[in-house]
Amino acid sequence: MERQPEYGTPVHDRPPVPRPGCLPCLELAAQRAGARHRGDVSAATDANVLLRRHLAETHEGDGYTG
Ligand SMILES: [Zn+2]
Repeated sequence: MERQPEYGTPVHDRPPVPRPGCLPCLELAAQRAGARHRGDVSAATDANVLLRRHLAETHEGDGYTG
């Protein structure tokens, strides 16, 4: 078993999936894609955290499939 980091997003966690047609979702997904493109892991993680929070707050129980 690999140990997960004590901070940030667990490496085995699947990245949050943006909801189609939701502007904040798309913006955060674009932010994440841009960060990954730049190789900016920390910014990509930040975008994941924000997107996950947004999903929990705005799309709570909205057909969550991971
Ligand atoms: Zn959304």
